[in-house]
Amino acid sequence: GADISARNIDTLSSSFPLCMQNLHRSLRRDAHLKHYGRLQYTLFLKGIGLNLEECLVFWRSSFSKITDDTFNKEYRYNVRHAYGDVGGDSNRRGNGYSPFSCQKILTEHPPGPGESHGCPYRHFSTENLTALLQAVGVKDHEVLRGVKEDKEKMKYHLACNRVFEYAHKQELKKVKDDGTWGAAQLETIVHPNEYFKRSYLLMN
Ligand code: SF4
Repeated sequence: GADISARNIDTLSSSFPLCMQNLHRSLRRDAHLKHYGRLQYTLFLKGIGLNLEECLVFWRSSFSKITDDTFNKEYRYNVRHAYGDVGGDSNRRGNGYSPFSCQKILTEHPPGPGESHGCPYRHFSTENLTALLQAVGVKDHEVLRGVKEDKEKMKYHLACNRVFEYAHKQELKKVKDDGTWGAAQLETIVHPNEYFKRSYLLMN
């Protein structure tokens, strides 16, 4: 079965969409993420099935340059709040906030300098986007050219789905050929958690 735990996030991140891979890479590089990046990433991690306790372990160990005291004072509350564990507003009624959809990530709170949230297909320059894709293993020139064209036409979902199809080419062919996946499972991905879900199913 799935082992969605703090110590497995590095491994699982190979199934993350580019927005979340970018957050993960920034977090590993800086041992820190700014507020909105933490929120986008925390809610995504909640959506893949990481429980609150493991999520706190994940953030605590990732923020390796600060003390327990600082972590507890400045960061613990917001993680618990995202899970609906604390907070007296409408958030209390349910399970905390919902993971952000692509629509939300694409249209709200564009990242400023030093911030890593958002959607790289939209918020990165073409040059930086190409470099990031190559860094995560997308080196096919035809795919990179397709992404560039999608971006120019502001078809960010298409770029993301193009990369998904490229990264899972063999596995997708198999489930299409043997009929395991029908039309519903092959619809355009419009949510980062759906991207992960499909990738995880195909790769495991
Ligand atoms: Fe993330 Fe959606 Fe952008 Fe893909 S299209 S990188 S899932 S926000």
